[in-house]
Amino acid sequence: MNRETSRELYDRSLDVLVGGVNSTVRAAPQPYPTFVQSGDGGHVVDADGNRYVDWVMGLGPLLLGHDLPQPVESAIQRHASEGPMYGVPTELEVEHAEFVARHVPSVEMLRFVNSGTEATVSAVRLARGYTGRNKIVVMQGGYHGAQESTLVEGDADHRGPSSAGIPPEFAEHTIPVPFNDTEAVTEVFEAHGDDIAAVLVEPILANKGIVEPVEGYHETLRDLTHDHGALLVWDEVITGFRVGGLGCAQSEFGVTPDVTTFGKIVGGGFPVGAIGGRTDVMEAFTPTGDVFQAGTFSGHPVTMAAGLETLQYAAENDVYEHVNRLGDRLREGLAEVVAEQAPEYTVVGRDSMFKVVFTRGGSAQSGRCAAGCRQDPDCERFDACPTDASDVGDAAVDRWNRVFRPQLLDEGIMLSQNQFESQFVSYAHTEEDVDQTVEAYRDAL
Ligand SMILES: *Cc1c(COP(=O)(O)O)cnc(C)c1O
Repeated sequence: MNRETSRELYDRSLDVLVGGVNSTVRAAPQPYPTFVQSGDGGHVVDADGNRYVDWVMGLGPLLLGHDLPQPVESAIQRHASEGPMYGVPTELEVEHAEFVARHVPSVEMLRFVNSGTEATVSAVRLARGYTGRNKIVVMQGGYHGAQESTLVEGDADHRGPSSAGIPPEFAEHTIPVPFNDTEAVTEVFEAHGDDIAAVLVEPILANKGIVEPVEGYHETLRDLTHDHGALLVWDEVITGFRVGGLGCAQSEFGVTPDVTTFGKIVGGGFPVGAIGGRTDVMEAFTPTGDVFQAGTFSGHPVTMAAGLETLQYAAENDVYEHVNRLGDRLREGLAEVVAEQAPEYTVVGRDSMFKVVFTRGGSAQSGRCAAGCRQDPDCERFDACPTDASDVGDAAVDRWNRVFRPQLLDEGIMLSQNQFESQFVSYAHTEEDVDQTVEAYRDAL
């Protein structure tokens, strides 16, 4: 496969873009990233004209794939042509907020922003302002964007910033705990309960190989936050409008957070974020409350049109049925291949998310978990499946990055940039894309 143009573009980009990219993970593929020219349904075409089945899908936002259905596309074009933005309110923002509030159980009011990062930054400030407390609890391996309060590593006793440029004092206010460990988070609340403003958690660890919650974990977080007067903040930037359809993961899991952050799909492929929640909490934001929040581009008309039309299209068509059905077919196919050829590996994901984590122990997945690990204690390889971020971190990461992903790329299948990022099925993918992908895994594993 000829990738000369990508190589040359990367060479050029290294002079003017830091590390050749505008977001760190994009530089991960070795020896250089593939530069995309255009999207086409469930495929992308690279700068050299090679075509790939695309499971990156923008790293989450592209529920409908690369070719937007006619009503979505024309709404975007209409709003782009009416002048890009105004800095004063539009009806679209109201309509989009009404749609989200109507479908997502915990959301009464919203504030739209421009990225998932901005949403979690604002949510943390909101929780601190609302409760008058400083500390937040996050999950090891959870991801909430490039923000100071959550770029923290370590554990409750030994923690520090996970990036240069963040004062160590910041990390004192953020307590990382292992996902799915009820005991660890209970101890943290026993020690710091009166100082904790919020627990910030993804319903599924979706940026660390996909890790499902064990039964009762989210209920424990709900009870602890409630009992100690802290807020439960769910980061649904990835799972929102993907897992559990229009009701999001909170409707699937039956847990009601106080605040939810959104991003990705809610902007239909344009830069977006949102914070949603109960009225009494949300009204702590300015201008009704005293937690400052603002943004020149927030509620951008083109983004609002793209997001709203995407979700309306999903509400009126078989979008979730299609992506979830293909997700099942994909995970079941992969589970078969893995059982035959790499029984120590774990197929993870649900609805339209999937990944094979190159775990190092255990026999083949069985029964209910064959279509994606569900943390079933009765599954014979329960102990070998990932239950927290360290289990995913222990996987055969180099094999995935250096051997497996490049081979799939050669076979015309584009996977996300490393072992940890999720992969996504879109409405534009077909059974043929799924079957071709399963065969490529069969060849490569
Ligand atoms: C992508 C992501 C973010 C960050 O969103 P950006 O738009 O990249 O800033 C935050 N939280 C989760 C769970 C994400 O997946």
